[in-house]
Amino acid sequence: MPASLPGIHHVTSITGDVQKCVDFYVSVLGLRFVKKSINQDVPDTYHIYFGDYAGSPGTAMTFFGWPSWPARRAGSGQVTTVSFAVPRDSLDFWESRLRKLDVQPTQTSRFSADVLVIADPDGIELELVGDVAPDFRWVPWLDGPVEREQAIRGFHSVTMTLAEGAATVDLLVKTMGFRKAGQEGRRTRFETGQGGQHSILDLVESPEGPEGEESVGTVHHVAWRAGDAAHQAEWREVLVKAGRNVTPVIERYYFKSIYFREPGGVLFEIATDGPGFTVDEPLETLGSSLSLPPWFDVRRETLDETLPPIVVPTTATTGAGH
Ligand code: ZN
Repeated sequence: MPASLPGIHHVTSITGDVQKCVDFYVSVLGLRFVKKSINQDVPDTYHIYFGDYAGSPGTAMTFFGWPSWPARRAGSGQVTTVSFAVPRDSLDFWESRLRKLDVQPTQTSRFSADVLVIADPDGIELELVGDVAPDFRWVPWLDGPVEREQAIRGFHSVTMTLAEGAATVDLLVKTMGFRKAGQEGRRTRFETGQGGQHSILDLVESPEGPEGEESVGTVHHVAWRAGDAAHQAEWREVLVKAGRNVTPVIERYYFKSIYFREPGGVLFEIATDGPGFTVDEPLETLGSSLSLPPWFDVRRETLDETLPPIVVPTTATTGAGH
């Protein structure tokens, strides 16, 4: 088996309103808007990216702007919850910040970590989990609306809901190198890589449905990290041998990607850590203009006219400096 997949690279969801989405992830959650680009398969639509200051692997929450997609239908066969890691002692801060900004969190706990559960403007279930890994590499956004001490440190985990989990468990454990790390009711926890923050995948079995549909307010796919193209190629071979229908390597400009569906229906991607979001913009000005892979540049003028404008909140309006 190749070296293990270290953890989550990015999570991509579908928004019906890119501006509301930007306002929420930047002004409320304090993520940085790191890339304004297009969906390379539906190139008249946005693909927008949020993350830590650099959009480091393990921190990038991304969205396709697809307002004409069907209304939200979340359910089995999907990633149904996206969890972010925050320091344990920041949860009181987050609870009061969220309430002040008209987001009503509910409290719960999972595998002995305290959790705040919220919904984003499109209805996607999010969690802030008070459990960070001290050695997780992230780059704080020092001018952001949330102080470094309390800031989101990237992903904690994703939760998949499946009608039937057995074949997925087989793939995760026997082929993909995940380890079973815990059980709580119908929730089974798996870990990859070194375990802990951003390497956690929870699987919830829900045979009674409903079944999810690709729609606004749902997660489109989760991408796992590969160190580089060679590591990705090794995993591609393993997955093909295991009978998965894996795409060829696709050049996404910011990373290289392969895609396949796990047996429960969730779309998985494996994406390389590099080259990352600074391949076409300096770190300091990430997200400030429409970034297009060179082979889409001929469409720039048309896209500038047809894509709705996005206003990225400045820290002055989001309370930076307090
Ligand atoms: Zn992706």
